[in-house]
Amino acid sequence: MRPEFAFPLPEAPSVAVAASRQRFPVHRIYCVGRNYADHVREMGADPQRERPVFFMKPADAVVANGVAVAYPPRTANFHHEIELVVAIGRGGRDIREPRALEHVFGYAAGNDLTRRDLQDAAKQRGQPWDAAKGFDCSAPVAAIRPAALGEVARGRIWLSVNSELRQESDVSRMLWDVPHIIAELSTLFELRAGDLIFTGTPAGVGPVKPGDRLEGGIEGLEVLRNAIVPAPPP
Ligand code: MN
Repeated sequence: MRPEFAFPLPEAPSVAVAASRQRFPVHRIYCVGRNYADHVREMGADPQRERPVFFMKPADAVVANGVAVAYPPRTANFHHEIELVVAIGRGGRDIREPRALEHVFGYAAGNDLTRRDLQDAAKQRGQPWDAAKGFDCSAPVAAIRPAALGEVARGRIWLSVNSELRQESDVSRMLWDVPHIIAELSTLFELRAGDLIFTGTPAGVGPVKPGDRLEGGIEGLEVLRNAIVPAPPP
C-alpha cells in the first residue's frame, strides 16, 4: 500500500546527463577534502601529515549548470572550489579498488562552494563543517558525461572568475585517485546509485562576490558556468 504523506513529496534533486534527455537522480553528495597537495599547503597544512577527509552536502544543494547562485547569508568570505565529480551508477560496500570503476556512472565538473570564514572558525573550534560546506545551493554541477565515453584519470582542471584564471591543475595530481576514493568511502558508507562524489580542489581557491561570472571545467567534460547574484531580500 502506498503511504499517505502529510504533504506532497518534494521533487527529487537531479543532474543533467550529457547528450541525453535522462537525468541523474541524486541520492547523497559526498566530498573529499585535502586531495591536492598544493591546496593543502595554501590552506596552511602539511600534505604529508593531513590526510584527505570526507564530508557531505545535502542532495538538494545541487545547482544546475547556468543557474545563478545567490550570495549566501552569514558569510563575508565565499569561495569557489572547482572539482571533478564522480557519479555512482551501481552501489556497494567494501568495494575493492581494482573493480571500483565498474561502479561509476559518469563524470562532471562541480563547484564545492564554501563559506570559508565559517570553515576557518569551525576548524579552530574543532566543530563540524556543515554550515561552511552543506548550505543551500552549495553544489553546482554540470552535465554528467557517461563513463562509457571514457574514464577521467587525467586532464586539465581549471576555474576562472570574470575570465581571469584562478585555479589550474591536472586531475592526475589528486592524492587519492578515483578508484581509491570509491574503495575508501565504501568502507564507511554503503554507496548507492545516485551518489555524487566531489573529489577535491587544487590550489587557487578564493573569494567571489555578487556580479562575478564563474567558469570552470575539466578536459573533455561540459564547462560549468554560474553567476553569483546578490542575496534576495528577506
Ligand atoms: Mn572541496
